[in-house]
Amino acid sequence: MAAASLSRFLRPDQCAIHLVESAEIGIVGVGEATVPHIRFFNQTLGLDEADFMRKTHATFKLGIEFVNWARIGDSYVHPFGDYGRAYRGVKFHHVWNRLRLAGDDTPLDQYSLPIRAAKQARFAPPMNDPQSLLAGFGYAFQFDATLFAPYLRAYSEQRGVLRTEGRVVDVRLRGEDGFVEALKLASGEEITGDLFIDCSGFFGLLTEKHLRTGYEDWTHWLPCDRAVAVPCESAGPLLPYTRATAHAAGWQWRIPLQHRTGNGYVYSSKFISDDEAAATLMGNLDGKALAEPRLLKFVTGRRKKTWNRNCVAVGLSGGFVEPLESTSIYLIQAAVTHLIEMFPDRNFDPVNVDEYNRVMDVEFDRVRDFIVLHYHATERNDSPLWNHVRTMSIPDSLAYKLELFRERGVVLNYRLGLFYEPSWVAVYVGQRIVPKRFDARLDDVPIDDLRQHADKLRTAIGTATERLPTHADFIARNV
Ligand SMILES: Cc1cc2nc3c(=O)[nH]c(=O)nc-3n(C[C@H](O)[C@H](O)[C@H](O)COP(=O)(O)OP(=O)(O)OC[C@H]3O[C@@H](n4cnc5c(N)ncnc54)[C@H](O)[C@@H]3O)c2cc1C
Repeated sequence: MAAASLSRFLRPDQCAIHLVESAEIGIVGVGEATVPHIRFFNQTLGLDEADFMRKTHATFKLGIEFVNWARIGDSYVHPFGDYGRAYRGVKFHHVWNRLRLAGDDTPLDQYSLPIRAAKQARFAPPMNDPQSLLAGFGYAFQFDATLFAPYLRAYSEQRGVLRTEGRVVDVRLRGEDGFVEALKLASGEEITGDLFIDCSGFFGLLTEKHLRTGYEDWTHWLPCDRAVAVPCESAGPLLPYTRATAHAAGWQWRIPLQHRTGNGYVYSSKFISDDEAAATLMGNLDGKALAEPRLLKFVTGRRKKTWNRNCVAVGLSGGFVEPLESTSIYLIQAAVTHLIEMFPDRNFDPVNVDEYNRVMDVEFDRVRDFIVLHYHATERNDSPLWNHVRTMSIPDSLAYKLELFRERGVVLNYRLGLFYEPSWVAVYVGQRIVPKRFDARLDDVPIDDLRQHADKLRTAIGTATERLPTHADFIARNV
């Protein structure tokens, strides 16, 4: 992603890009679900959506279903789109809340087109007409990450990126300031450069092993530190969403691709053994396993500085927040986009580097808070993991957001980073955090007017959903 983006935006006469990869080491490759921003990334590269989907066996994604999170038996969807329609400028979730407080028990999900489409395994892209109910949502992709990397490699090479297959065995640092000067490969070749982008995954080869940047560990908030992953045969209708099912010591993902389903159990090694986790995963597959389960270990957190000296850590080398909301690929995209915006000259102005680090810290912190919310806002008390996360202290930034929603139904707004208002509303309400009050502008509105507004929307969304093609049909015709 980094090489592709840089080769698209930097002039080759000003900047030569050299990509070093090692097939012997390989990639993590289990990142399969994304958020809608990936579409903008692909569009800025000029990729053809159908071609990209064919080559990576991708499916469409309208959101994530969370099963058993607040209570065993619960299920809700975090959709990529708004709920209902505002009433005289007041956000729809306040309307829903006023009706709820008056005794109405219609779930918020009923007012979301992407949720209802997802549950019926239907898909069509949003329309351009802002008046249409078929306009207020977005979509992402679920794809085979092991195919996306070579796809972008080919793209990069076509744009002049020089690629070397080889293992980096040593790094030469400059005496006076410790800047990276050259990579030494196992073949004996040396590769020099001005700016180094460390995409070496969990190894953090440049940023940690050689620059000793340091890591902020967030395990106390997000105790899951391992995952076991396995693909299986597809079964049932092709769902346009990812599922995250909470288990006793973590949660299991289910990501439907065109040709198979990706599965994994993300868990805390403090609360379950690797063998038990693998057995739980293998016992909860929809179809026949297509490989042996693969174990991955990680430490949730982020690098103290994702840009240190002349080295920018992008991807897993910069940090990792578990894949509950499919955010890692987004964070790569954010890192690359901000790097292009703040692209340095050979002086590496410290203010440039500081600003980049500030922005990336915010990006990581936003994702962290959102993920911690899913764990902390639970009523589950059936296992040590859930007892831990329910009673743990949380980041102050999240505590404030949570209080604001619980008391007033207000979602804290910000411009930088994920996630936007409908996402927070979905997860708060799905995790059974319902506001005590609604927007005061609804005080004087007769409840029947609000009921009528909501009923009309619910019916219209139902009708619009039923007209959509199935996800499988849409892919068969368009991809
Ligand atoms: C369990 C799990 C589930 C995930 N699920 C999702 C998801 O659903 N959605 C999402 O967005 N993200 C997900 N991710 C994250 C996603 O997998 C990564 O963000 C993505 O794969 C990018 O990884 P990377 O390129 O940083 O590292 P890697 O994939 O580890 O790539 C590292 C690269 O560096 C090279 N390299 C390393 N050391 C050397 C060396 N010494 N010499 C030469 N080359 C070297 C390797 O060859 C490789 O090409 C998940 C991660 C995990 C662990």
